[in-house]
Amino acid sequence: LDGIGESLPDRAPAGELLCELLRCFYALGWCTGTGGGLSIRVQGGYLVAPSGVAKERVCPEDLFVLDETFETVSPLAGTRQQISECTPLFEAIYRRQGAGAVIHSHSIPIVLATRRDRNRRLLRWQSLEMIKGIRGASYPHPHEIPIIENTPRESELRESLEAALQSLPDHAHAIAVRDHGAYIWGRDAMEAKRHAEVYDWLCRFQYEESLEPPHREEGA
Ligand SMILES: [Zn+2]
Repeated sequence: LDGIGESLPDRAPAGELLCELLRCFYALGWCTGTGGGLSIRVQGGYLVAPSGVAKERVCPEDLFVLDETFETVSPLAGTRQQISECTPLFEAIYRRQGAGAVIHSHSIPIVLATRRDRNRRLLRWQSLEMIKGIRGASYPHPHEIPIIENTPRESELRESLEAALQSLPDHAHAIAVRDHGAYIWGRDAMEAKRHAEVYDWLCRFQYEESLEPPHREEGA
């Protein structure tokens, strides 16, 4: 996991940051209605938000702590809270991509983008300055992310998500889920946040551009 190990944050500040980011994402509409989620890799393991709770009210004490092998360390059995349903998907992304944080977003622009053409298996953007916000991506080259089909339960996405990770387009840092949202990652929490903002922007831009009347040819 190329060098991430040495710079992993301690559990306490990462827990504070995780809760602060959930409040930001709630305000952006990415994790309202108790949906969405966030996980951060820390020294010795991972922090994961609980499932089915108001994400904007999660405190550091509510977070689940997993060890390096994704076994739950705390809270101990008997708690009322359930760990995020996204956990197997976070695990797949951590293992395959060496990510430092993973966001599960229900961003409306991303969901809209996945519904524009049900036959498309990719979202694609080109010649947009904002693409440069994705690590490794550059203007004016195309940038693509896969779309996988939704399933009745979040955890059932794992197989198709793992298949998508195996043939990920260059520099892609997200997998969109049709009718649902996206999983977005980065080297650390702040890079994952930046990537989530950029993908939200790109999808929003594409939607707004689609509302523009077609440009008339000069002199027509
Ligand atoms: Zn979801």
